[in-house]
Amino acid sequence: MRTLIKGGTVVTATEIMQADVLIEDEKVVAIYAPGDGGGWARAAGDAIAGALSEKVIDATGKYVFPGGVDVHTHMELPFGGTYASDTFESGTRAAAWGGTTTLIDFAVQTIGEPMMDGYEEWMAKADGECAIDYGFHMIVSDVNEQTLKEMDMLMGEGVTSFKLFMAYPGVLYSNDGQIFRAMQKAAENGATIMMHAENGIVIDVLREQALARGETDPIYHSVTRPPVTEAEATHRAIAYAELAECPLYVVHMSAKEALDEIIAARDRGSNVFAETCPQYLFLGWKNLNEPGFEGAKYVCSTPVRSEEQGHQEALWRGLATNDLQIVSTDHCPFCMNDHPTLGMQKQLGVGDFTKIPNGLPGVEERFTMMYHGAIDEGRLSLNRFVEIIATTPAKMFGLFPQKGTIAIGSDADIVVFDPGTHQTLSADGIHMDVDYTCYEGTEVSGKVETVLSRGRVIIENGEYLGTKGDGRYLERGTNQCLI
Ligand SMILES: [Zn+2]
Repeated sequence: MRTLIKGGTVVTATEIMQADVLIEDEKVVAIYAPGDGGGWARAAGDAIAGALSEKVIDATGKYVFPGGVDVHTHMELPFGGTYASDTFESGTRAAAWGGTTTLIDFAVQTIGEPMMDGYEEWMAKADGECAIDYGFHMIVSDVNEQTLKEMDMLMGEGVTSFKLFMAYPGVLYSNDGQIFRAMQKAAENGATIMMHAENGIVIDVLREQALARGETDPIYHSVTRPPVTEAEATHRAIAYAELAECPLYVVHMSAKEALDEIIAARDRGSNVFAETCPQYLFLGWKNLNEPGFEGAKYVCSTPVRSEEQGHQEALWRGLATNDLQIVSTDHCPFCMNDHPTLGMQKQLGVGDFTKIPNGLPGVEERFTMMYHGAIDEGRLSLNRFVEIIATTPAKMFGLFPQKGTIAIGSDADIVVFDPGTHQTLSADGIHMDVDYTCYEGTEVSGKVETVLSRGRVIIENGEYLGTKGDGRYLERGTNQCLI
């Protein structure tokens, strides 16, 4: 099966070029200057490629981008007395609609259980369900001798990154000694340690005190997780990673004070990296303060922060300077109204913000919102846009150049994007299994038009053409961003 994408502007992390892309089966096999009739050989080559292709996609006036790589999602995650509302089926399909063709989700170890059991459980949940290719990170909930051995075993399964929590005492929390032991293991076997960096012990005190004062509204979720709790934990995680000499990747960064810790570590030459998410770049306390219980839509951890404190500006600057390397979503949706099968979700926290399930939807909007922020609002170049949503995520988690770029031999995961279209984001238009979008009413330019996953067209003319189970499990290599 050959497909030709003709007439578009191909954009990678390093190139912007008028080029046609020839795909054979699952791979890109040629990228060449479009035939302009100026040279018979070129024209003939173009005609031959066209004639040999069963499908020709006209990308005239459009961008041809690598498919997005989202390295932080939580499909079907059990959390806060319910489950994230997207299944692997609905969530990966929504990702495809939004121009993301690879995601890395998190398998979870249950405390007291072998880590391999958690891995097998999540592999079974995703098996035969996904619309796009996927891999797993492993959440380590219980660091002990057995778990440390299992980290080696999982490296052999292509799970090369392990996430620990300095937040959520009694649930996912690891103490400093446990974190340090996991880091020493990572230094030994080549894994990357991912950190949820918030001081959960202090946050729990602040939450209790807020509730005692009758501060129960959604805004207090952010008030009780002040920037210093993120910055302090980030500082501590970096200190232990430097001591253990392992790569560290701090997830969902939202505070400028935490970013300062990353900048300092990178200036020291440490293998320290961080991601942020669209919610921290576009949302703030004005959202958490929406009337009634509406603010619950935006409750996630780390929290969205006050617009007055300069966090958004600092995060955008970090993305521009490469102090932040990746934008992922932390997609973890919960419905505002009852979910048809899961029942009450966000409303569990009416009258008590500590009971609002933490998480928000975003897997479908990342590509569009980041294009909006980068290009419409003029903050980043086209190349940098591609780099932070596709190329670096693939490199950071050992998938490059199979994923994250358009190159000869790479998987044909491609988005044809029409920059000339304008759209207003709305809950009516989403494919995620959730009843709202965080970006309701946002006007953006550009639209994901056609999506190919390993050479198969899965989104075209406003229709999903794939089937569940098309997505394949990705055994990942190690971090390709190390100094
Ligand atoms: Zn997360």
